[in-house]
Amino acid sequence: MFMHNKRLMYTVRVNEPNPVLANLILEQFGGPDGELAAAMRYFTQGLGESDPGRKDMLLDIATEELSHLEVVGNLVSMLNKGARGKMAEGLETADLLAEITGGCDSHTTALLYGGGVPLTNSAGVPWTSAYVDSRSDPTCDLRSNIAAESRAKIIYERLMNLCKDDPDVKDALGFLMTREIAHQKSFEKALYSIKDNFPPGKLPGHPDFVDTYYNMSQGEGDMRGPWNASEQFEYVNDRDDQMAVDGGDGSASVNLSLEDTEVSQAMRQRLASDTASDPTTGADLGAGPGSGTTKQAPER
Ligand code: MN
Ligand code: MN
Repeated sequence: MFMHNKRLMYTVRVNEPNPVLANLILEQFGGPDGELAAAMRYFTQGLGESDPGRKDMLLDIATEELSHLEVVGNLVSMLNKGARGKMAEGLETADLLAEITGGCDSHTTALLYGGGVPLTNSAGVPWTSAYVDSRSDPTCDLRSNIAAESRAKIIYERLMNLCKDDPDVKDALGFLMTREIAHQKSFEKALYSIKDNFPPGKLPGHPDFVDTYYNMSQGEGDMRGPWNASEQFEYVNDRDDQMAVDGGDGSASVNLSLEDTEVSQAMRQRLASDTASDPTTGADLGAGPGSGTTKQAPER
């Protein structure tokens, strides 16, 4: 069950209304790296998790992310407060439009959502569960969670750099940013507490290809580094050794039933190219100056 406490997880103080900043902070409300995405990611993972330790951690962090969502939503609400009132009361101020939009695209959130707290990102794109990419394998999902926390941390950092004029908002964002660092640490510990966590799943990689680095993009700029030069990699440069690496002829084939063979051949014959033809096209017929080389349209 869920219970709600009226005290926020972190006190929200806002120096002054700022609808433009409110709009940008929506990125962490209903955006791909925002708090709702985080909460739903860990909540649904927790529901499906059977390891008691990971289940507990996922539900702890999911619930904390909902508390972050509440802090972010309150930041947006406070930053919009003045403008929301002016719009609602029809107050005609000469610079209301500039106040709301500040030259950026917050008109959507201002007009359509009335300065409320919509589940959108900062461009007004509605939240979607497609932001959650869980696969019900803890080594996959924990790695994805680590990446999600690192993305959330970076977005908070960018937002903090935008609110130098409001140290109180910056302070609350700094708390939220810090908690994403803490979550990343927990998820990493949980991942590495699974013995043999790489590669994911039960099947090992094929020994012929699992230690190979193919230098597929060749030319000036070829570089060697730990990603391809460390002892565990065999660096394959030769083009011949990059093709049909299974030792086959590199073609594609399939065993077909007699019926499938016949129908495939019929289709192939019906759609065959006539390589001896030289058909006149619309480009030939309409060719004018500057069209390049076209053959003369045949006389009819
Ligand atoms: Mn969070
Ligand atoms: Mn987090």
